[in-house]
Order: sequence, then structure tokens, then C-alpha cells
Amino acid sequence: MSNNHFSKFESAVWGFIIGDAMGVPFEFSMREELSKYPVTDMVGFGTHFQPVGTWSDDTSMMLCALEYLCEEGEQTKDYWVFKSLLQQKKLATKFLNWYKNGAYTASGEVFDIGITTQTALEAFSKGVKVSECGERNVSVGCGNGALMRTLPIAYFFREDKVSLRNLIGTRVGKITHRTILTSVCISFYNEFFFSLLNGDTKLDALKHAQSAIAYIIRHTDGLIDDESIKLLTRMMQMNFGLLKSDEIKSGGYVIETLEAAIWSFLNTNSFSEAVLLAINLGGDTDTIGALTGGLAGCYYQNDIPDKWKNKIQNKVLIESILAKVPR
Ligand SMILES: [Mg+2]
Repeated sequence: MSNNHFSKFESAVWGFIIGDAMGVPFEFSMREELSKYPVTDMVGFGTHFQPVGTWSDDTSMMLCALEYLCEEGEQTKDYWVFKSLLQQKKLATKFLNWYKNGAYTASGEVFDIGITTQTALEAFSKGVKVSECGERNVSVGCGNGALMRTLPIAYFFREDKVSLRNLIGTRVGKITHRTILTSVCISFYNEFFFSLLNGDTKLDALKHAQSAIAYIIRHTDGLIDDESIKLLTRMMQMNFGLLKSDEIKSGGYVIETLEAAIWSFLNTNSFSEAVLLAINLGGDTDTIGALTGGLAGCYYQNDIPDKWKNKIQNKVLIESILAKVPR
């Protein structure tokens, strides 16, 4: 761990939360509508009728994962060591505390939760084994509900190999989404972010994520189905960022969300440009805003506008969890 990594990570967390809060009022907006009246600032109300700076499920679950990782390890001289491999039950209990009690929220209220996540947490609350709660059916289990929570993994496991980060990301995701495509998308995002945390350029981050995914595909022979591999094709090409905006979808399907976030980050030159481009794609604006904001917050660490950070709700909670993060 180093202070340099910590400051990049801290900035990524704020970038993620700001992207989420900026996207909340515009969730489900049509792109055509946003191209006529583009989002240019952080505002309140809109889709969920929440005051300005209100963040949603994306940030709540990311904070649960972050706090869990802080609590489950200990600092040695050079490394952050985990007491055991990720315990899904303990993390699922935090998610349940969010969903049922409004813990880890901006204002004590859960106003946004995906159906797949809700179904899995309901099953968990009724005593179903945590390993069996997540959705396996690909027609419903490939939403972005699991991808939205995995940002902290690359920071905590940055001394480790791709295979361990892939395993941890998969376990965090499977609590609610047990599809292979979800796990691979989580790993793509985590490896891209891992590379940025280490100070790499955007294209080096893309190259690193692509070779990590190629490695995962090779070493999980037969486990990753051809359909998932096919869906990842565009992201596995170095010219992915050159796609036109009308070739980038921005719905809640996990591959669309991942593509939209990486594409927005690759095609902009500042934190605010990246987040605004992502949100103005429309669709799942808060999750895409959050994932883009995480990458851009890390990369443009000193460029996050104070006027946006100052408007974020329940900063006390965010700061108290960040204070536990090893550095
Ligand atoms: Mg949300």
C-alpha cells in the first residue's frame, strides 16, 4: 500500500459517488431527449424526486463492499492480508442491512434497487444459503447490479494476481448475479481500474484489461460460454474507443453498462467531461455515471469539481468508511 495509491483510490470513490448522484435524476432518460437538453451540472429531483447530491444503490453497495474489505483484513508491514477468502454471507448481511433498514444510504431511504438484487436479498433474508440466492438465468441475471459494487477490490488486492482478483470479484458479484458474463464484466472493469491505480495510461489500462480477460478465458477453459466471449469482442479490440456514440448502448444490461463507462472515459479529457458524456448517453445514467466517475476520479485526481463534491449527501458516512481504508 502507498499514499499515492490511496489518494488515487479515494479520488475514485468520490468520483464514483458524484457520477452516481449526477445520474440519479436522469435514470431512464432517452438519449434523444438529452441531446436536446444535455445535462451540464449536478441537479436534484427528476426521475426519483431526490434532492441534489443524493446517491443511490450503486454507492450504497459499493460502500458495503468497501467497509467489508476494511473489516476483514489486517495490515502487515507491506501488505493488507485477509483473514479468509471473501465470506459472502458477511457481505450479504451488509447488503441486507442496506435494503431492509436503509443503512449505507444518502438519507435513510432506499429508493432504487434492481429486481435481481432485490430477489436475491429477499431469498437471503428468508434463510436461503447465500451461494444459492443469486440469479443464474442469463435472461435476467445479466443486469449491471453486481458490476456496480466492485470498485474497491482492485485497491485491496493490488499486490495479488489477476486470478485472485477475478475470484474475489466473482464471489462479490455472485451474491446476487450468478452468470458468467457478469463475472467477466466485473473482472474487465476491475483490471482496467487496477491499471489506472498503478498510474498507467488509458490505452495501457485497456491493453491490461484485455490481456487479463484473455488470461481468464484461457484458464477457465470451457467455463466461459461462446455467447459471452462473443459479447466481449468489441471491448477486446484496441480501437474500441473509436466507436461512434450511436454504436454504444447505455442500458442496464451488464455489457452495455461496461462498454458505455469505458468508452466515455476513453473519449474525454477531464473528470467533468467524462461523467457528463456518460450521463448524456441516457438509459442507466446513475450506474454508468458511477462507473465512469470511478475511473475518471482515479485518473484526473485533482480535477473533481469542489462544487459537485460539496453537494454530496451524507458525507459523514462516506468519510467514516474512507477513514478505515488502509493506506
Ligand atoms: Mg442506482
